[in-house]
Amino acid sequence: MKIVRASIFPVAALLAVAALPTRALQPDAPRFMGEEALPAAGFVVPVMQGSAQTPAKPVEVVRYRCRLGDREWEEERSNADELWVSAQRLAAWTDRKGNRIAFARVLAELPLAYSGMDVTRETFERALQDPDNALDQTAEPERLALWARHFAATLRALEGGGTAGALQADGMAAEAATTADMQPETILVNLSRFAKILSVPLPDAAERAFLLRLNPHHPGHGRAPRDWFAFFVRFASAPRPGDRDADRSLRSDFLGNLRTTGWRDTEKAVREASARRLATGVREEDIPDDPLRRQARDSVALLDDWWYMESPGYILLSDDPAAERSADALLGALESLRPRFEALVPPFRGRHPETGVVRLFRKSEEFDRYFAAEGTPLGLSSTAGLFSGSRRELVIRPVRRNSALDTGSIIRHEAFHQYLFSAWGGVEAPIWFNEGTAELFAGYVPRANGTFEFRELERRAHVLESLARDRDADWTRILAVVLLWDQETFYNPPVAGADANWSYSIGYGVCQFLHRGAPLMRGRPWKHVLPTLLETLERTGNPRLATAEAFQMGRDGRDLSTLSRFADDLRDYWKSESARRGSRSGKVP
Ligand SMILES: [Zn+2]
Repeated sequence: MKIVRASIFPVAALLAVAALPTRALQPDAPRFMGEEALPAAGFVVPVMQGSAQTPAKPVEVVRYRCRLGDREWEEERSNADELWVSAQRLAAWTDRKGNRIAFARVLAELPLAYSGMDVTRETFERALQDPDNALDQTAEPERLALWARHFAATLRALEGGGTAGALQADGMAAEAATTADMQPETILVNLSRFAKILSVPLPDAAERAFLLRLNPHHPGHGRAPRDWFAFFVRFASAPRPGDRDADRSLRSDFLGNLRTTGWRDTEKAVREASARRLATGVREEDIPDDPLRRQARDSVALLDDWWYMESPGYILLSDDPAAERSADALLGALESLRPRFEALVPPFRGRHPETGVVRLFRKSEEFDRYFAAEGTPLGLSSTAGLFSGSRRELVIRPVRRNSALDTGSIIRHEAFHQYLFSAWGGVEAPIWFNEGTAELFAGYVPRANGTFEFRELERRAHVLESLARDRDADWTRILAVVLLWDQETFYNPPVAGADANWSYSIGYGVCQFLHRGAPLMRGRPWKHVLPTLLETLERTGNPRLATAEAFQMGRDGRDLSTLSRFADDLRDYWKSESARRGSRSGKVP
């Protein structure tokens, strides 16, 4: 069974007014201006005017439940092509016009049998280490050309402009191509530094691929790697037939100006140390070592603009030089929140939540570019932050000045999704509960001493207040429907005049009441709801059944007697200023 989950945080109403301007893409070639050193790779690379580095996305993980006879186990697998690209990709840049350049080190071919398949990381590593697949300095040009075509097609699928299906079709096209089509051409530029530069023909007229190998006799290259390296260029639009200007510029301004740094072993360590920070009060020995953390560090190890900060439960990555102080405060708040997540919603079967990876972009455009290929469930322009369970990371769009949203509340919301995914091992929560509790935590405002003040979210509360005043609103019916919705329906409610904000408000209204209102009621009539919900979910993994049991709706969800009493109390709560004042001023555990 395949489980891929992604939860999102919609701000449709707020961001709609501030939607990004859509720029009509001019068929504009890249211009090169300045250069960027990648000391860890040993290269100094000419960069496109107005370009930014694109960090590598974590490889998507899919959890498989496997069964063989009586034996059952879980396995985490990833797309083999994606693992293969991620093992060899060194850096990438995109300019404002949409031109892209990627830089890679050629290590090995991916066995054809693995292409398009999901495999475990161990299986993939074995294939990568197999000498039969290795591509060293002696590799034939035809094998290198095949490698380059496969790499270009996989990049296209991962970075936008393609799908996994297109990827497979491309693999087949590469196989069917004649030897003549595949023949790489030697390019005669930068002859002293490079022993060889090859241009590989690609099926897409907007793409170029170059393979190059350093000249070991050039001064300073004595200890340089002998491997092949590769650059992939994708023009924002394909040059018009007969127009050679863009290609001429690539050869002279890009390949002609490629340089190398010296190769000193210490450089990588020095660079990594300068990119790394520890959150206040955290010592080196508090930081556990795990694959998620290592993958996160690796994703920015070669990127000049990126740095990261670590705390025992989290690693935060950013390209915003001004974010260091806020990052420190943020990690402090996340560390204090995690025990509160665990207290309110305990992990299933004694699981330990994994390291939380948080990525904070400096510019909104970078956030868009990062998700351009896969999109987001609510639409990119309406998404302020996103936790991807399959990629195990939480990504935040920078908030505009004067926005009604603040980064802290978005991160607290997403951090709950991240926690829940990890603590429940991917078991799907009822969506009203997942989003409602995430919104509850968005209102936990940190104080300097590590405690929290509880604030009601105005954007949700006013929906609930007006619904509570509306005499025609049938709260029992609303709950009977909304609480059983799946994710898709919750985000796009099939109710006249309702949008995602409406669904979120209902979920939030129920969760705030259960956690902060109902416990103050005489006799605590609703104290069984959450324990029943969690217990049923842990036992059955069925979110609808768990909700139905929690509100005693019967297996078919038709018995509404308990739910109708709950709806009355919930409505009274949202009508009563004094009840809510009590839950605001109450202690935050
Ligand atoms: Zn959410």
